[in-house]
Amino acid sequence: MKTLHIFNTLSRTVEEFRPLYPPNVSLYSCGPTVYLPQHLGNLRAYLCWDFLRRTLEFDGYRVRHVMNVTDVGHLTGDDDVGEDKIEKTAKAEGKSPLEIANRYLELFNRDCHRLNIEPPTVESRATGHIGEMIELIERIIASGYAYVTRSGVYFDIVQYRGPKSLGRLSRQTLDEQYSAQRLEHSPDKRNPHDFVLWVLNQPEHIMQWDSPWGRGYPGWHIECSAMSMKYLGETIDIHTGGIDHIPIHHENEIAQSESATHKQFVRYFVHNAFLVGKEGMKISKSAGKFPLLADLPAAGFHPLAFRLFCFGAKYRSEIVFSDEAMHAAQTTLDYFFEFARNLPADAPVEAGEWTRAYVDKFGEALNDDLNTPRALAVARDLVAESYRSKDFGAWPALRMLDAVLGLDLEERHKAARTSAMPADIQALIEERAAVRQARNFARADELRKEIESRGYDVKDNRDGSAAYQRRSS
Ligand code: AMP
Ligand code: ZN
Repeated sequence: MKTLHIFNTLSRTVEEFRPLYPPNVSLYSCGPTVYLPQHLGNLRAYLCWDFLRRTLEFDGYRVRHVMNVTDVGHLTGDDDVGEDKIEKTAKAEGKSPLEIANRYLELFNRDCHRLNIEPPTVESRATGHIGEMIELIERIIASGYAYVTRSGVYFDIVQYRGPKSLGRLSRQTLDEQYSAQRLEHSPDKRNPHDFVLWVLNQPEHIMQWDSPWGRGYPGWHIECSAMSMKYLGETIDIHTGGIDHIPIHHENEIAQSESATHKQFVRYFVHNAFLVGKEGMKISKSAGKFPLLADLPAAGFHPLAFRLFCFGAKYRSEIVFSDEAMHAAQTTLDYFFEFARNLPADAPVEAGEWTRAYVDKFGEALNDDLNTPRALAVARDLVAESYRSKDFGAWPALRMLDAVLGLDLEERHKAARTSAMPADIQALIEERAAVRQARNFARADELRKEIESRGYDVKDNRDGSAAYQRRSS
């Protein structure tokens, strides 16, 4: 088993990763709130966790990955103010909350599929786990850290943490944590920082369930504690989410969970930085206009170019979404696709001995706090070396790297084989790819003419790749 080193927000250092029960790893990710399409910023978060999960698998671990889907209780303000996001969209569109949640969850899963994000082992919806949430709230009440009022059951964060102590993740006092929020709050709260576990007496809310305290619905934070405990146990190895979750959502998850179990909730908290627009603004749904995966093909980009764009940056670095950066990612994607498509029919099935150093370096980069840009450079070097030496023993090695890159290179290869060209054309195509790579454009032009004279159309793409197609007569 290789050793991953990963930045743990709990200690604010890069730590050696040691799961509780190797070779098993329990991984929990805060998932989408399904009331609008997930924008490219959200998708960056899920890609980061896909890189993490695949790295762990590359290292030989067995990962049990649970992700929640929020389909009730997430209010427009994270601190218990505003409307339920799902119900707000449902009212605006004249649909039921269930229809809204189903529609946006389906869209999200389709986007994840297009990005080759491995589906979680368990995708768990909040509305399917109301019983588990109620049980957990009962445990918290029994431990003395929650109180029941007319408007809801609240977590007594001040009593739990002490008014001046620092949050374990945020390293801020409660006043500092909430300084950016308007603390409009119910007069029933003992303290404005207390957060709701179960909302009561809101007859206009559509989704309601019976509970020991009356009909109502859960607050946003409790679902993650309840579902991670159900599927992964009371202490989990890794918990992920965007950095926006550090000060409130994840602090609250820790408080709720540990007050009930008296055990450490999470061993490694791992957070991704944002995808931002050109102006440096976080891409967010509240901004009104945000880029979607579905917009990319019209702009000339393959969805997997976005995957590669994210792979090309460290998960802890903010990245700027721009056309230029996407063009660069598309060029790299075409470079790998072309290699997979144009492999000679007799490419070796065993990886060449010389490729071992590349596979090792690739793993080392990933295990170094998920250094995906360095890993990507290693994969490119492997292909470049293969072209230089005309040794296609790189292909089986590249397929190993693709287990983490996630570009479906094997599929491209197979698709090219099934629409295979006659051997003479294939030989010309391969020679042309090699001379173009070597920037011998005069010879590339001669070969183009030769291929065309044999009845094939040749299209050179701006990014250096080329397409060949039999001319219809
Ligand atoms: P939400 O559906 O808004 O709860 O967000 C789902 C996930 O996306 C959370 O883990 C967020 O932290 C993350 N996220 C939201 N906006 C961005 C962004 N611009 N860049 C990266 N991650 C984001
Ligand atoms: Zn969560």
